[in-house]
Amino acid sequence: MGCALTQPQRITVLGATGSIGLSTLDVIARHPERYQAFALSGFSRLTELEALCLRHRPCFAAVPDADSARHLQGSLLAAGLETRVLVGEQGLCEIAAHPDVDAVMAAIVGAAGLQPTLAAVEAGKRVLLANKEALVMSGALFMQSVRRSNAVLLPIDSEHNAIFQCLPTDYSRGLADVGVRRILLTASGGPFRELPLERLPDVSPEQACAHPNWSMGRKISVDSASMMNKGLELIEACWLFDARPAQIEVVIHPQSVIHSLVDYVDGSVLAQLGNPDMRTPISHALAWPERIDSGVSALDLFSVARLDFQAPDEQRFPCLRLARQAAEAGASAPAMLNAANEVAVAAFLDRRIRFTEIASIIDEVLNREAVIAVETLDAVLQADVRARAVAGQWLVRHGR
Ligand code: NAD
Ligand code: MG
Repeated sequence: MGCALTQPQRITVLGATGSIGLSTLDVIARHPERYQAFALSGFSRLTELEALCLRHRPCFAAVPDADSARHLQGSLLAAGLETRVLVGEQGLCEIAAHPDVDAVMAAIVGAAGLQPTLAAVEAGKRVLLANKEALVMSGALFMQSVRRSNAVLLPIDSEHNAIFQCLPTDYSRGLADVGVRRILLTASGGPFRELPLERLPDVSPEQACAHPNWSMGRKISVDSASMMNKGLELIEACWLFDARPAQIEVVIHPQSVIHSLVDYVDGSVLAQLGNPDMRTPISHALAWPERIDSGVSALDLFSVARLDFQAPDEQRFPCLRLARQAAEAGASAPAMLNAANEVAVAAFLDRRIRFTEIASIIDEVLNREAVIAVETLDAVLQADVRARAVAGQWLVRHGR
């Protein structure tokens, strides 16, 4: 049984069955002497979770409900595994904060990842943050908790990982102190960058999920198509790097080879480049400050041939403007933006609303709900619930 091993670092993968989770397990499997999967969570794809448990033999697995737990526990026992199956949010928090865990990959999508990710932070773990929604919702509280617990927070989002790599090791006294003028956050522009505007209301979930450069989960794929993903990333960058929204400029770069840049006062601009494969930032964060093989092929600049840049068009991508508005308002606004977006994206994926109505719903939530201070987790969760209710009212009013 793998649990007896003590040498390799023990990793909890929250959201192991997702796109980031699977890439993480791919990197872990390449370095059995360094890493061992300690706990894996899944939500709906439980047959896949079972297969992952058989392959990685974790000490724990976590599933959403007692029935699924009984079923998985039975199969794993029958296969001779000692993996213990835990249930629900409490189970997720337990595997995130377990004293034997060295690092936690936070790769659950959306608000569902907030509490388990915070549990890992509060336990002072090395936290590899893919679940940007958790940080967007609870920014100030999240970062206070990182400082209090001495957790090591490493960004997995390719842009933030790139920015982190382009900053000096210690930027804790602020960006100005290390000579940073601004951060250039790159965006591919998604599948609809050049679609005639009048066709945007009629695009399908399948078209929205067909990202030109990255293969990702459905929610983040729709966010990339609306550029809300870049909006959430703008807020994420403000918290991670203690930046003001005005210090962050979004640059459309369709090739997704430059993952972001940092512009210094002396005119130097540092960039991180690589093939668009999340195993690069995952390997970087797992091994930091060392470097390990990720399985990603070497960048071939001759086949890339050219790098293009353009300014984002806010008429085409109103979600970017809404996110900047929420970033500037602060307090509960980013949590409301995120919640409204989650409701709207789910409705779009369900074919209940048009693609362009995602922004209409978020706009209404941001403009109807007062921005209030969020100094506790309860206040964050309440802002989330209220925003979901207002977004739900929009759906009812429009007969969806
Ligand atoms: P995904 O949909 O492929 O996987 C999501 C994972 O979360 C799955 O394991 C699923 O079982 C789990 N999950 C879903 N709902 C849950 C719930 N209610 N409770 C518990 N678990 C639940 O998504 P992904 O593309 O892997 O993205 C995961 C996170 O990483 C997102 O926050 C996304 O924004 C971020 N991210 C992803 C990429 C990428 O390339 N995929 C890049 C940057 C950031
Ligand atoms: Mg990203």
